[in-house]
Amino acid sequence: TAVGEESAQRVVVSLRGLQKRFKRASGEWTAAVDGVSLDIHSGELVVLLGSSGCGKTTTLRCIAGLEQPTGGEVVAGGRVVSSSAGIVVPPEKRNFGMMFQSYAVWPHMSVFGNVAYPLKARKISKAQIEQRVGAVLDLVGIGHLRDEYPSQLSGGQQQRVALARCLVADPQVILFDEPLSNVDAKVREDLRAEILAMKTRIGFGGVYVTHDQEEALAIADRIAIMDAGRIVQIGTPREIYGRPNSLFVANFVGTINRLKGTVTITERGRVVVSTLLGDVVVTGDGIVERLIAGQDVWVVIRPEAIRLGDEALALENTWRGRIDQETFTGASGHVRVAVGDQSLRVRTDGGRQFDTGGDLAVGVAADRVRLLLPHDSDGAVR
Ligand code: ATP
Repeated sequence: TAVGEESAQRVVVSLRGLQKRFKRASGEWTAAVDGVSLDIHSGELVVLLGSSGCGKTTTLRCIAGLEQPTGGEVVAGGRVVSSSAGIVVPPEKRNFGMMFQSYAVWPHMSVFGNVAYPLKARKISKAQIEQRVGAVLDLVGIGHLRDEYPSQLSGGQQQRVALARCLVADPQVILFDEPLSNVDAKVREDLRAEILAMKTRIGFGGVYVTHDQEEALAIADRIAIMDAGRIVQIGTPREIYGRPNSLFVANFVGTINRLKGTVTITERGRVVVSTLLGDVVVTGDGIVERLIAGQDVWVVIRPEAIRLGDEALALENTWRGRIDQETFTGASGHVRVAVGDQSLRVRTDGGRQFDTGGDLAVGVAADRVRLLLPHDSDGAVR
């Protein structure tokens, strides 16, 4: 029931029309955050994803209480903690864990001292601190480093210390600002898995800022795509990837082939779009309701939706193409196929080899094609 769902999905942080304007050196005001509304539920990790300067960090700093909004409000624990009137509850009283790229561990304190610090401020008994810190260090796999100093640790180990320090106070909400951007790829993957495991085990939720789309897809319960201070789409990773609501989102998350097209036929659940490839048949729920014949659209096809050779023949959309280029990357392959004047990116499984210059069938199923309406921010179709 709705009531049951509500109690299971308690809102822990709520942003209501959050706005943050800064005065530039020129004296002009710009909105870094421009009306963001968002509910974060208990145990839910929401990733803010967007390119540099879109307002992710400023949003997070407003939630943390490090920045005072110029409009709207931040609600936590059932009350307004920040609004344009002021920071009502200071950062240290919000009981949010924070793991920031710039929140380095303290060099003059041992690993134990770093992790114990948040508990000392809470005046918990020494024995309890010993026990709790020991348990958390073991949990994040650095129990053996408890007496080391941060300067003796690798970047990845230091971030484990930061994670442990964050978890020790058992926060319900953790704010992450690109916590993995300073560690190398392999360690990044390990730590990402660690954070996910901790989340399942401990049940915290929160907000995670990144500009790395792969990281966002891997770690998020929901992704909020930001552009110019606003959320342009919010949804589960699968929704964002599979049903982007604009070319901007489709392009930002994953790779796409995009073609200009004009709708020529609309039938129930089926549309035909004329493109440089020829006619493209598209099927899907609700597709006709949004489109009329003569309308300009973007045709969007993910590289992994395209089939080559015999597999392509049975699909609704099949063309003849020529292999222009093949790049082998191990588990998968990336192929460029020319269909007429159009070049398509195709993702293949790495086991198959394609010869450059070879002629073959290229196909895509009608339900794997997305149509997007031209959007102001995307530029006109023509
Ligand atoms: P990045 O990924 O590069 O950190 P971001 O999405 O986190 O980017 P923000 O750091 O939130 O973006 O910045 C959003 C906008 O607000 C930028 O145009 C930035 O220049 C501006 N801005 C942020 N902080 C300040 C400040 N203290 N004074 C003036 N302008 C600021």
